[in-house]
Amino acid sequence: MLIEKEPYYKTIGHEVEVFEHAYKNKLPFLLKGPTGTGKSRFVEHMAWKMKKPIITVACHEETSATDLLGRYIIKGTETVWKDGPLTTAVKEGAIIYLDEIAEARADVIVAVHPLTDFRRSLYLDKLGVEVLAHENFMFVASFNPGYQKGFKELKPSTRQRFVSMSFEYPNAKIEAEIIVAETGVDEADAKRLVKIGNKIRNLTEMGLAETVSTRLLVDAGKLIATGLGKRLAVKVAVVEPLTDELDTLAALKEMTSLMI
Ligand code: ADP
Repeated sequence: MLIEKEPYYKTIGHEVEVFEHAYKNKLPFLLKGPTGTGKSRFVEHMAWKMKKPIITVACHEETSATDLLGRYIIKGTETVWKDGPLTTAVKEGAIIYLDEIAEARADVIVAVHPLTDFRRSLYLDKLGVEVLAHENFMFVASFNPGYQKGFKELKPSTRQRFVSMSFEYPNAKIEAEIIVAETGVDEADAKRLVKIGNKIRNLTEMGLAETVSTRLLVDAGKLIATGLGKRLAVKVAVVEPLTDELDTLAALKEMTSLMI
């Protein structure tokens, strides 16, 4: 829960100071942006920097309020109450990070509402108990805005409870710096990977559901750093994860193999 070693995070804009001010003011914080843009890494970095414990929950369509609040479990011959991760964070004054909050079931949003406003409380309906948040508790969530089909939306009434920041792909210089720092590839290869990333990001006519994230470029860099052939690394770490469409795959493979 406490992060001992500094997670590497390259600051892109004002996110560090905004996060610190949100914390001081006990305001919940929402990170918006596509997958692989450093949102989780940023939150881990902030938890480390502020020396606060952090509990992360990766939300998915089955994540329910019970999963976060807690449930009765059977222990030997007894049933005992077990706090869920959100209740633990609220009581102990940790940062809770609900990654992809919009994916969770609707009862999660209902349960967290009183935590995200002046009340800062959590109602455990199964126990009939209201828990007031520890003063160090901070609510953080991420959300992938639904530019594409298939992503769930967050209601305005929920969104307006958060101090929010958009996370995007960094500019070419910074992205290359991240790839070098994360993988140890040389600068020339990192720059080539960024070029490939930006080229594919600009191919809007391909109709890709999600485009190349920094994560994919970092993965390609890692494979290159351990000695995998560069073209093969780009193919398996960047191109293949993007699409299963055969024509699109072939076109992307051809294009990228000329660039590395
Ligand atoms: P998200 O939570 O937005 O899906 P992550 O935080 O998991 O994305 O980032 C994916 C990867 O991209 C990280 O593991 C890291 O290698 C890299 N990354 C992206 N942005 C940054 C950044 N600003 N500083 C350091 N690493 C980054």
